[in-house]
Order: sequence, then structure tokens, then C-alpha cells
Amino acid sequence: MTVISLPVEPFDLVIFGGTGDLALRKLLPALFHRFVDGQIPAQSRIIGVAREGLDDEGYRASLRKTLNALSGSDPAKVDQFLQQVGYRPLDARKDAGWDDFAALIGEQPDHVRVFYLSTSPELFVDLCARLGQYGLNDGKSRVVLEKPIGRSLESANRINDDVGRVFAESQTYRIDHYLGKETVQNLLALRFGNVLFEPLWNSAHIDHVQITVAETLGLGRRAGYYDHAGALRDMVQNHILQLLCMVAMEPPSSLSPDAVRNEKLKVLNALKPIDASNASQLTVRGQYRAGVAEGASVPGYLDELENHQSNTETFVALKAEIANWRWAGVPFYLRTGKRLPDRVSEIVVAFKPVPHSIFDASAGPVVQNRLVLRLQPDEGVKLWLSIKHPGPGGLRLRHVPLDMSFAEAFGVQQPDAYERLLLDVVRGNPTLFMRRDEVEAAWRWADPILAAWAASNESPRPYAAGSWGPSAAVALIERDGRTWHEDND
Ligand code: NAP
Repeated sequence: MTVISLPVEPFDLVIFGGTGDLALRKLLPALFHRFVDGQIPAQSRIIGVAREGLDDEGYRASLRKTLNALSGSDPAKVDQFLQQVGYRPLDARKDAGWDDFAALIGEQPDHVRVFYLSTSPELFVDLCARLGQYGLNDGKSRVVLEKPIGRSLESANRINDDVGRVFAESQTYRIDHYLGKETVQNLLALRFGNVLFEPLWNSAHIDHVQITVAETLGLGRRAGYYDHAGALRDMVQNHILQLLCMVAMEPPSSLSPDAVRNEKLKVLNALKPIDASNASQLTVRGQYRAGVAEGASVPGYLDELENHQSNTETFVALKAEIANWRWAGVPFYLRTGKRLPDRVSEIVVAFKPVPHSIFDASAGPVVQNRLVLRLQPDEGVKLWLSIKHPGPGGLRLRHVPLDMSFAEAFGVQQPDAYERLLLDVVRGNPTLFMRRDEVEAAWRWADPILAAWAASNESPRPYAAGSWGPSAAVALIERDGRTWHEDND
């Protein structure tokens, strides 16, 4: 089938942190894929910036290796793409080179300008101040901020205030790449493009919701950042809450950026507080010890960190509730962690059991319907239904998934979330980006949890690498007579 792409106008996209992990692993491959699909206008420029003293050719040489290593990549296409890529060595905190950089950007006054801040958040303020100083914040300029925006409401406000002195809110794109995933778009289509789900989408018919973001990796090379953040700040405050909002929001009147974001904000504001009075019942935090992950023995968090004192959580499970008419009494069980058995991100909407079973015991149990939206590794949607086991032998029930992952059927390769989001910035469409008030509301909910943990003096519960977290996380949901979803349920 034909893939339909929306046109974009010529642009300059500057990646501050152009030599970093995110730029090389995600941003530049995403731009390359859009180039291959003919979506990068010929006059557009992509400019990497970092302190390393490279020139255009040196940068291209390092990218060539990375892009040629992508599966299915054509070296001739890589070379064509690299003709549109350049590099400028700059230090966010030093004056040298900024005049030349401003002159380079000034060569294309009609281009949309995107400044992607793929650096540590401590540099956001310096970078924005420089861009403002050189007048690079005018009408067609946009700035993209990577997560995390701060580590508390107060620090997020400081960053947002400082960025806001240079870029208007309408020019500021706070990225949460989970929102760019095909499955999240599909959630909107399923909920609001069908009449089947919406009448059931409430506490009368939904028993509970689970959101899991599990990683098999340990700390890796981001130890310094991670130990300062922990799982709640790194995953729950942003990605997981954004997914919760997409599940729980009221139907927006349109897909216009503010219509969607207003509804998400209402959900965040309706989250029931978790604080010192209830954190011990509603949250579980853990830290991995040595164990076996992906078939190999791996060290524990503290050994990887080379700091035997850290109380940073590498796992969190919690029970959230939304205090409004639609969701009263429906728990949202959220969990995320490092060194878990599978790399999987999914949303499970578990419907209530049938009110009365007409089947006798020989038919087997009538299992609850579940809608499972998988974001990774393979994006897709499955609706688990009870059907009759085919053939003779009496009526026996089978619980089977109706697979609604149509990418294969449509012969379409699913684009990476960054591909969609980067071009949305160029097009000036902020629907899938977080507005400042959303970030604030998410911190307003997360801060008291962090404060409760800090005040408790309890260490995170240990769990073996390669397990599904501390046993208390299983108890958290089983106490309510429910279980964490497994794909073969
Ligand atoms: P990284 O690998 O440490 O890269 C940081 C980049 O910033 C490098 O290119 C570095 O190059 C440059 N840099 C450092 N100091 C600079 C300065 N004073 N002036 C100009 N450039 C400077 O970090 P990353 O993992 O790519 O992460 C970038 C951002 O994305 C962070 O905010 C992170 O939290 C966020 N993020 C990353 C991921 C991921 O998977 N990596 C995922 C989600 C969010 P030089 O040292 O040569 O200057």
C-alpha cells in the first residue's frame, strides 16, 4: 500500500549534543529514514553541535559508520544524506564560535529553525540564552527539550522560566517520545474512531489498567544521570504518566494541540495524591542485585555504580487512582524497572468479568477481556476474547487474542517515534509534545512520593536482576485479587 507523507518546508535542524548517544542512536537515524522516504527537502540542513573539535567531514565520517550499520541501509543513500549534514564545534558555556554559528544559520532566513537540545538539562539555559542573544529565537524558530525537565517541580519551573525568557510556549516542544509511538496513535484511533470501546471505557466496565515499562538493561553508560534520577523521575513522571493520560483522558473535541493537552492536563490534576500517609501501601521501590539477565550473570546496581551507599530506586510499582466520575475506583497499576526479564512496554486495559456465567465447569473459566497495547519491542494491539474451542467435544472456552496489529497486513514498516516527532516540530504541530502545565502537574503528583520515600529512611527493596522486581510488587496487585499481565494469560 502507498505510504502517505505530509509535506514539510525546508528547515535547518541543529542538534546540540550532536555527538551524544541520543543523537547517534535515535535522532540522526530517524532523519536518515525520513530522507530515504523523500521527506527532507533538498535545501534543508542538519547541523550537529558539540564541544568536540570536528569539522563537517569528520562528523560525516563518524555518522557514515553509524548509518551504514543500520539494517537495510544503502551506502549511496547515506552519502547523499550526509551532503545535507554539517557540524560546528561550540561550547554552550563559552563565547568562541557562536558568531560564526549565528552567521551560518542566518544564511537561510526563510528556513524553519529547529534547535534540538539533546544535552544534559543543565545546559538548556545557557544554550537558550545564546540563541536569544543572537536573535535566533524569532518567528520560525522552535526549541526541542529532551526529558527530564528538571528533577522536581521547583527545578522544572526554573528551567521552564529560563527557556521561556527566550522562546514562547508556542515555540517550545517538550518531547516525550512515547507519544510518537504508533501504538499510542492507535490508541487514539481505537478509542475515538470506533463506537465499540468508548461506551465501555469507564469504571462500570473496566476493572483496572496496567502500564509496564520494563528494561533488561542495567545502568550502562548513563550511571551518573540515572543515580541522580531513579525510576520514578526517569520513567513514571513523564513516559508512564503520559501513557496513563492517553488511556484516561476524556474525548477531546478535536486533535488540535490544545484540545488534546487540555484533556491530558485534567487527568494529571485528578490523580489522587500519594504522600507520606499512604506511600507505603501504594508504592514499592526496588533496587537490583546481582542475577542473571539475558542468559548472563550480571552485577548488582551498587556494584555497577561503584557506590555502595546509593538509595536510588531502579524499580517502582505503584497503584494510582484518578478521582473523577469516569475512573472512580479503577486502579491504574504502574511499574517500571531495570534488569527485568523482558524488554517490554505495554498498556493493559482489563475489563470486568461477565456478571454471570452460563457455562458449566467443563467449559473452563470465563476469562476477563483484556485490550493489550504493546509499545515495544513489537508495536501492536491485541484484544483477548473468549471463544468456543473449535470442533466437537462439548463447549469449551478458549481465551485467544484478536490481533489488531495491522502494520504487516498493510505492508508498512512502523516508523520510529522520533521520525514522526521530529517532522511534527518542523511542521509546527505540538499535539504530541508536553505543554508546560502538564510537566508541572506531573511533578506536583510525583514530588510528594519522592518526599515520602526520602522521609521514610527505608532502603529500596532488593530484587535479583532478571526477576520482575521485589515480591512486594506482586503483593501490591495480588492484594487486590489481580495479577500482572503475562502475554500467555
Ligand atoms: P550524552 O551521550 O552524554 O551526550 C551529551 C552531548 O552533549 C554530547 O554530544 C556532548 O559532546 C555534548 N555536550 C556536553 N557538554 C557540552 C557543552 N558544554 N556544550 C556543548 N555541547 C556539550 O547524552 P545523551 O544520552 O545523548 O542524552 C542527551 C539528552 O537526552 C539528555 O538530556 C538525556 O537525559 C536525554 N535523553 C537521552 C536518552 C538516551 O537514550 N540517550 C533517552 C531519553 C532522553 P561534547 O562532550 O563533545 O561536548
